[in-house]
Amino acid sequence: MGKIISICNQKGGVGKTTTCVNLSAALGILENKVLIIDTDPQANACMSFGFSSKKLNNPALQFMDFTSVITNNIIKTNCPNVDLVPFFEDLNFFKSSSKFKKALAIIRKSYDYIIIDSVPFLKAKNIDILVNSDAVIIPVQCDYYALEGLHKILKAIRFVQKKLNPNLSIEGFLLTMYDKRVNFSRNIVCYMRNHFNQLVFNTIIHRNSKITQAPSFGKSILEYDINCNGSVDYLQLANEIILKNATATEDIITLEEKESSFNDRKFTKTVNSETKNHSLYERILQKSKIDCRMEQPSFLKNFDDLLNLTKSSVKNIMGTGYKNHFGVWIYKINRANFFQKRYLYLYFKNDKVLYYNKKWFSH
Ligand code: ADP
Ligand code: MG
Repeated sequence: MGKIISICNQKGGVGKTTTCVNLSAALGILENKVLIIDTDPQANACMSFGFSSKKLNNPALQFMDFTSVITNNIIKTNCPNVDLVPFFEDLNFFKSSSKFKKALAIIRKSYDYIIIDSVPFLKAKNIDILVNSDAVIIPVQCDYYALEGLHKILKAIRFVQKKLNPNLSIEGFLLTMYDKRVNFSRNIVCYMRNHFNQLVFNTIIHRNSKITQAPSFGKSILEYDINCNGSVDYLQLANEIILKNATATEDIITLEEKESSFNDRKFTKTVNSETKNHSLYERILQKSKIDCRMEQPSFLKNFDDLLNLTKSSVKNIMGTGYKNHFGVWIYKINRANFFQKRYLYLYFKNDKVLYYNKKWFSH
């Protein structure tokens, strides 16, 4: 059953859409099925994947069954495992939250995560989105005005939790556009960590020019440049969310770790327990429905040489790829267009490559 996470902050330009697109892409690469629902009339999430601001504006939609409206209009994006529902013209779609809820209840069965991009300003639509979400991510831009209006979104969340959706939780405050050279940025991080401690994600999204460029190529940051800092940050965030939710739902990580899973010291400990997390990863892997297939055997041959090599030897040969907390390293290979969606997954055990998968994703 997929978890519905909305990305909300009534301020514009704080990184809601950027987070929606790139977090979804990262969750997809980490083998989760993701559905993005774009609720913003500006359709920026759609455009970030290279689709025109596609709108469903047929007035008859409001009389139709929402489940079929959504399922019939799902678009497959270029990112592995990521689907998208384009913006729906503002009919009564979100106002009839019970209809929306019913549709989501059915659709969520096919996904691991449903990520909803919301609009700026605390419109009724945003309240309806919160009513229908399991959790909310609040992006906070690390700038001078960051904290302005934060109380408003918190007030709205508390109202929804009290009156409308007691199951709504705060997935986390996400610090975005962090620039370590700027004093304000550092101050905001300190302030947020002091006031909201474990509610703030460990992962900080740094300011990165490639994040700004990627949408103009109709790509997520991971498709645009998997090795840039922006990709690493969003993969790190996806990892943190997967780990947090696995911790919450499966009794794999001990209670001690669970109680303080997101303070810095303990988080490092979690990162280091690779063996344990490897089995956790396998379990997550088994649960997710992955649309991928193995590469031709002739291609596999080259990578046999990697088997049993240590991490440092792999690094010497392959350079730095994306390393995730489950002891799996991911490399994007063959950057030529045709091979764009090809990835090499190296699975480590006791510091050695146990096996590898070379995957490409069909769309
Ligand atoms: P929102 O959806 O909250 O209005 P956006 O996600 O559209 O905000 O981001 C606003 C602008 O900031 C966009 O131009 C986006 O490219 C840029 N941006 C977002 N995150 C970053 C980042 N980490 N580094 C650099 N630019 C960013
Ligand atoms: Mg936006």
